[in-house]
Amino acid sequence: MANINKHGSKALHAEIAGAGFAGLTAATALAQRGWSVRLHERGPELRAFGAGIYLWQNGLRVLEGVGALEDVLTGSHTPPTYETRRHNLTVSRETFNGVPWRIMTRQHLHNGLAKRAREAGVEIRTNSEVVAADPSGKITLASGEVLEADLVVGADGVGSKVRDSIGFEQDRWVSTDGLIRILVPRMKKELGHGEWDNTIDMWNFWPRVLRILYSPCNENELYLGLMAPAADPEGSRVPVHFDTWVEMFPFLEPVLAEAAKLKTARYDRYETRKLSEWTRGKVALVGDAAHAMCPALAQGAGCAMVNAYSLAMELEETPDVQEALVSWEKRIRPITDRCQALSGDYAANRSLSKGNQFTPAALEAARYDPTRRVFSW
Ligand SMILES: Cc1cc2nc3c(=O)[nH]c(=O)nc-3n(C[C@H](O)[C@H](O)[C@H](O)COP(=O)(O)OP(=O)(O)OC[C@H]3O[C@@H](n4cnc5c(N)ncnc54)[C@H](O)[C@@H]3O)c2cc1C
Repeated sequence: MANINKHGSKALHAEIAGAGFAGLTAATALAQRGWSVRLHERGPELRAFGAGIYLWQNGLRVLEGVGALEDVLTGSHTPPTYETRRHNLTVSRETFNGVPWRIMTRQHLHNGLAKRAREAGVEIRTNSEVVAADPSGKITLASGEVLEADLVVGADGVGSKVRDSIGFEQDRWVSTDGLIRILVPRMKKELGHGEWDNTIDMWNFWPRVLRILYSPCNENELYLGLMAPAADPEGSRVPVHFDTWVEMFPFLEPVLAEAAKLKTARYDRYETRKLSEWTRGKVALVGDAAHAMCPALAQGAGCAMVNAYSLAMELEETPDVQEALVSWEKRIRPITDRCQALSGDYAANRSLSKGNQFTPAALEAARYDPTRRVFSW
């Protein structure tokens, strides 16, 4: 028998493109509210790209909302301090006035969300690429199959085909700096004396601009973000150019040696997309498809998850899908827009290198609790 939703009518149906953090969250939160949900992932399996990720109270509240928090907290880590160093001297040690935050591997977060999606009854199709969508509620797959739904969610990342096939108006920027993201063993013993459980954001500007964001994910795994301008051929080289990095960060030699062994490392520049609208008819865009942002404030996934979760909440309260989409965007978008703008400024000006930059404005998105629609802390 078809599911019955809280309005007493037959379950509405959603087709979702993309099983990243946004798509998995939207799928789970909708299924938990009585929707029938099919989630399309173009890859052959569900997996996260990248190394580690920071989540703040906004993302953690979403995990709590979908029932994945406990699984994700196990095997992740909150450092005692976010320390910023400039030319190897400490300039600040921040604890964000108590706002919860956590570091984990991307795969760990992805696994936690995928588990809840399956438990909620989401139908997951891998090797299923969405090539086009229509505001009337249709999607077309690469196989040529056309599927109809009451709601289409484009959660297919920064290169979204849902977005581009409909022709949403957008501005796009690419940053001058980029990052090599890798996971290496913690090697605390080999690193020797030091506060190696902290996040340590190390900025050097001379003789070249190189930054290492040292981020412990758990007892065994360390996420290293190696930032260099795209114009620097050695800093942006992959596999990691050991001599270039160890010259400026000699005390990280053991983990840099591990980093240099990784043949699959990738250098990515940050891309920003700003859209004139996030919805059209029965189609909603969430996550990087709607608002890809620079990672300076580490909020792209957090905002993606908040917006996906808030979409399901709005649809639970407002039975008319198109009305719900319009009020969802109006309600939730300003927080993301401000975060995207500040993240862009921070990245362009390399502001985090000054230390003490997690100001109330910079923590605004982090402080949002979408399950109660309040800012805490
Ligand atoms: C260097 C860097 C560091 C970052 N650090 C952080 C951080 O610490 N904290 C944070 O919150 N954010 C961070 N972010 C941002 C974060 O990674 C993204 O905002 C987040 O991954 C977006 O999730 P998403 O689900 O929207 O898109 P994605 O993660 O891109 O997922 C999209 C999914 O859709 C699939 N797909 C794509 N096209 C199709 C299609 N046509 N049909 C079907 N499936 C498709 C893809 O295979 C993928 O599985 C960082 C970003 C960068 C670049």
